[in-house]
Amino acid sequence: AVHPGRAASQAQGRAASPMAGCAERPILRERGQREVFCGLTGIVWLHRKIQDAFFLVVGSRTCAHLMQSAAGVMIFAEPRFATAVMEERDLAGLADANEELDAAVSRLVERRPDIRMLFLVGSCPSEVIKLDLSRAAARLSERYAPDVRILNYSGSGIETTFTQGEDNCLAALVPQLPEAETTSPQLLVVGALADVVEDQFARLFSAMGIETVRFLPPRKARDLPPVGPSTRYLLAQPFLGETARCLEERGAGRIAAPFPLGAEGTTLWLKAAADAFGVDPMRFRSATAAAEARAKRALEPYRAELSGRSVFFFPDSQLEIPLARMLSRELGMALTEVGTPYLHRQHAAEELALLPEDVFLSEGQDVDRQLERARAERPDITVCGLGLANPLEAEGLTTKWSIELLFTPIQGYEQAGDLAGLFARPLDRKTRLKV
Ligand code: SF4
Repeated sequence: AVHPGRAASQAQGRAASPMAGCAERPILRERGQREVFCGLTGIVWLHRKIQDAFFLVVGSRTCAHLMQSAAGVMIFAEPRFATAVMEERDLAGLADANEELDAAVSRLVERRPDIRMLFLVGSCPSEVIKLDLSRAAARLSERYAPDVRILNYSGSGIETTFTQGEDNCLAALVPQLPEAETTSPQLLVVGALADVVEDQFARLFSAMGIETVRFLPPRKARDLPPVGPSTRYLLAQPFLGETARCLEERGAGRIAAPFPLGAEGTTLWLKAAADAFGVDPMRFRSATAAAEARAKRALEPYRAELSGRSVFFFPDSQLEIPLARMLSRELGMALTEVGTPYLHRQHAAEELALLPEDVFLSEGQDVDRQLERARAERPDITVCGLGLANPLEAEGLTTKWSIELLFTPIQGYEQAGDLAGLFARPLDRKTRLKV
């Protein structure tokens, strides 16, 4: 069953069993009904990142609705995403559907000569599943190359939760990256970051003496970073399992690190890159010390407010584990349950090692059972999707929308205070309302 903007899947055999083996920590795995956004949502931040790309959702009116409401707060003179609505049709109508898609692309490319990269984004309605979008992308690429590169990926709610849309988009980009022509090591930072955050990191790497730093996704379609066996990549986001796999197929090696959230997380993330590139520890300290001290100072007032408060994470963005680590270690919050839609054990290993011994972790979802646990815990703050936030607020729980953590720049030293503020504000508002 699918409803606006959310994937609700009923997996076989609603098993819920505590499993051992995730860095030796027990984890509750649930495979029941889930309440999360689908991968189309990623378009809302990706279209702002790659400035000459366009995202054409091949979907239904429901998908168009989701895109409109998710991005509804933004007004563009020339939007960089749209939905080609495919109506219900039988198999005999497939040839027409392909023609319709070709015609929609042709109208778009003619009207918008600024588009250099076009993503055809698949969705879950059955009429779209019948279409082979990779063949359509190959067919259309032949027609529009070299001016417009046409790629495809899936944002379908059956296959993806909302941050997995970015993973699929970046994984589709990897085969397009040029081969690195040098044998000297280059750093590739992987995962969409706000431009301001990207610039801050570029300055820090440069101050450490790491000069060859590139970012994926790039800001311009023509500026694809090269990749090869000399590439060391550093994930900026925890939800990029497929992209990482594709990069490794191209010979790139991952730098294992926690994620750059909070003062400590940012230092450990930067340090992992510094060590991989043989940066002298003194030089690393002098490059990062001032910014780290600023971040710690910015966190102090929030620590006073948040210390000892409890937080419950529903699974949504896969950012839950790094966020929980930051809230517990840097702000003294108590973790009740940390749910994640999917746990990549390798990529999360450094984060898991920093979590408190007795943390309760869950992977996947059986929404009703999880709601019962949240109600029993009555945490001070609950991080969840929009669909759960309103009913929980009505029951007197304070919530934080997990989607906001994707739309707001939260990585790096200069954003550490803003990140803490996102958790302090709902509690503060609640206190004021009570007064
Ligand atoms: Fe809904 Fe599926 Fe479209 Fe997402 S892709 S908006 S879950 S119909």
